[in-house]
Amino acid sequence: MYKISEELRSRTVELAGIESRDTGKPFSLALAMDIPRAIDNFSFFAGAILHDSTESHFSGGGVFGSDENTGALHYTQRRPIGVAGLIVPWNLPLYLLSWKVAPALALGNTVVIKPSELTPHTAVELAKACVRAGLPPGVLNIVHGSGRYAGSALVAHEDVPLISFTGGTMTGKIVAATAAPLFKKVSLEMGGKNATVVFADSDLDKAAATAVRAAFTNQGQVCLCGSRLLVQDVIFDAFMDKFVALAKKLVPADPYLGYSTSAAPVASLTASGVAGPASHAPLSFGALISAAHREKVESYAEKARAEGGVFRLGGARPSPDSLPEAFRDGFFYQPTVVTGLSPTSAVSVEEIFGPFVVAHPFSTEKEALELANGTRYGLAGAVFTNDLKRAHRFAQRWETGMVWVNTWLLRDLRTPFGGVKDSGVGFEGGKYSFDFWSHVKNICVKL
Ligand code: NAP
Repeated sequence: MYKISEELRSRTVELAGIESRDTGKPFSLALAMDIPRAIDNFSFFAGAILHDSTESHFSGGGVFGSDENTGALHYTQRRPIGVAGLIVPWNLPLYLLSWKVAPALALGNTVVIKPSELTPHTAVELAKACVRAGLPPGVLNIVHGSGRYAGSALVAHEDVPLISFTGGTMTGKIVAATAAPLFKKVSLEMGGKNATVVFADSDLDKAAATAVRAAFTNQGQVCLCGSRLLVQDVIFDAFMDKFVALAKKLVPADPYLGYSTSAAPVASLTASGVAGPASHAPLSFGALISAAHREKVESYAEKARAEGGVFRLGGARPSPDSLPEAFRDGFFYQPTVVTGLSPTSAVSVEEIFGPFVVAHPFSTEKEALELANGTRYGLAGAVFTNDLKRAHRFAQRWETGMVWVNTWLLRDLRTPFGGVKDSGVGFEGGKYSFDFWSHVKNICVKL
């Protein structure tokens, strides 16, 4: 696995270029985030497995090791589950794939991967890296094909006892319904409608810069993106002015900008783990994944208009003249910010998964919490405040799998990752991944 990570590292720039071409995401983002994090997933789990330990228990009378011993020794083993079926979406293709493959292999499983049909390329490159690293044939397998055929066949296959799925909540329901009667072990990482909550006592400039990155990284196509902005009423207007001014700097452009075979991998991720300094520097902005996905985003803009939403920014495709000629048919959409909608409107509570932010004012902490908890999703959220007591209180009452305080997307691979409510079933990361990708067996020896 260390060799696999080194194989990937040696091709960082090329892989970032491939990911950019396949997805339309900025090359700079793939270079700073997708590929380094995929490399890290392999090296992290290669090391982590060396530090795993399991338990033993002594039960019964006497003293263990003495002649009077009449008890029993129990020891617990981790066992591989077998063939693991991995189904991944298009938004972070290699990054999310490696998040599954690395712990699956570390725990001794073999894998069958079903990448998204929209973004199959880096999965093939991973397979090549595995071959070069000497992974035995048959350990890592890829089945290309649509979810409807290849994906559902994998989920239904009786020789595949574990399914790890990342994708939309509707698809997750289908996966769960197929896997349940077969008693498969299942992890579902699904959709979100995450909130970024800004209290008046926070550092507004930093909060605005981070909220913009949370909203628009990868054109809003990260499951952790903060697509709902909840801002305390006394600062609502001032904060929105800052937010919109920063978001305006995100101009759809050639996603391949800056590509060069000699581009240096970005030296370090910022504290927030996203390309670009943690300052107010603009993010680069690419295209959406497909025509159909852009139409979905556009349908929410129509709904927002019909409900009297105020478009503070965007709400349309960029004019073709603003794009280089080669990109005029690309699936670009402007960063969009809407206010004035009810917090219960469809646009405010349904996942759009694009560059589309809905902002709502709140007056009290209680109201902020009610709004934050007011969707069927519960993946992640970020709260900005300089009141430490409030930060803990709010984070603990938030019905969500992950909370960031005064930051966003800062990840540590030892920590649990997952969602609650309609966002997920099961947590992975560090020892949580060990638990998911293995089953435990107790062996009891009568002494
Ligand atoms: P999707 O439509 O649910 O597809 C995800 C994967 O499932 C694709 O590989 C897809 O194949 C496959 N699939 C589709 N139907 C299937 C079926 N009946 N049986 C088995 N597999 C099937 O999701 P997406 O549009 O690719 O991705 C966006 C969604 O992923 C968003 O909702 C986002 O929030 C979520 N997401 C969640 C996380 C997380 O960690 N919680 C991370 C990233 C993304 P094809 O598309 O190739 O046909």
